[in-house]
Amino acid sequence: MVTATLRSSRVLINEAAITHNLTHALTGLPKGTDLFAVVKADAYGHGLLRVARVAQAAGANGFCVAVLDEALALRRAGFTLPILVLGIIEPEYAAIAAANHIAVPVGSSEWLTAAIAGLNAADLPKLHVHFALDTGMGRIGFRHLEDIKAAVRVVQAASSQIEITGLFTHFATADDPDPTYFNLQVARFHQFLAALPERPRYVHVANSATSLWHAACDCNLVRFGVAMYGLNPSGRAIETLPYPLAPALSVVSSLSFVKQIAAGEAVSYGATYHAPQTEWIGTVPMGYADGWQRRLQGFHVLVEGEECEIVGRICMDQFMIRLPHQLPTGTPVVLVGRSGEREITLQDVADYAHTIHYEIACGLSERLPRVSI
Ligand code: PLP
Repeated sequence: MVTATLRSSRVLINEAAITHNLTHALTGLPKGTDLFAVVKADAYGHGLLRVARVAQAAGANGFCVAVLDEALALRRAGFTLPILVLGIIEPEYAAIAAANHIAVPVGSSEWLTAAIAGLNAADLPKLHVHFALDTGMGRIGFRHLEDIKAAVRVVQAASSQIEITGLFTHFATADDPDPTYFNLQVARFHQFLAALPERPRYVHVANSATSLWHAACDCNLVRFGVAMYGLNPSGRAIETLPYPLAPALSVVSSLSFVKQIAAGEAVSYGATYHAPQTEWIGTVPMGYADGWQRRLQGFHVLVEGEECEIVGRICMDQFMIRLPHQLPTGTPVVLVGRSGEREITLQDVADYAHTIHYEIACGLSERLPRVSI
């Protein structure tokens, strides 16, 4: 996709906010516990390389990504810190992971056998794998102790090609005020851990929510994602935080066109909005192709510190707002962030769109330039 640098719509990234959030997280970690910055999905829409650079400077010990290509992008950009891919990669690409010192998760002996078959080049570094344990997330990972033990034997038989450097699980409800299911997962994890002969270099369970609201579970690595971007992992469910989170992302644009319409005149596709009286209407050059979802019709943006309703359907590349009075083209519009005394948060947008802030941030498309502030 072409990034539209010659248009006023932008995603602004406050690097100091990321540093602030990370510094607090790192300060609160028990001694000997590492933090990997989760930078998958273009760092939750904040920009992969920018966030990786800021996180590294703030003291992150490594990175987590979702897919092998993201890990390779980090290596190509010169990052040498440890990288863990969180999703299962195709076993035929295991040699690429090994060659680039990228650790990958394993959830079955079948995967190991298939991967090992491709790891026979003489000068290939060992593939580092983290055993994924499915303690209740139901996504990836071993579910039975016998399967883990069998997989350990597969690795032992190929010890010149592969090494277990991590053991982890992922919680389904760490952001839920009710800890029942979380505690069940913790208990299962401990059962697995106790039954295994050796602990690998990294034992990890914590995402942001776990690191904010649950005592450490005998682990030495935190996979720190959404809170690094200043977003509360629970949305609004748990409001108490051990430290204040500073949101890093805002979205801005400006009026590209302004006109007055008469009472009864319609705006946008489907003519769903008819002005009840004479109104000033502004056009904002951003639309659902930028990730500003069509269902945000009726929500608002901020202009000169005032809420302006989004009227009519949101188009692919533009939408219209009702202005309080005539304003010149070029007037700044805030879609996410502060204007005067008011603020629109990603959570506000997510609430209106019936989703979570993660999805709004990740959905902001590549067409919007990311600019550091
Ligand atoms: N660990 C795993 C396995 C994940 O899938 C994710 C994100 O989805 C994270 C850690 C980071 O989670 P969060 O962004 O809630 O901190």
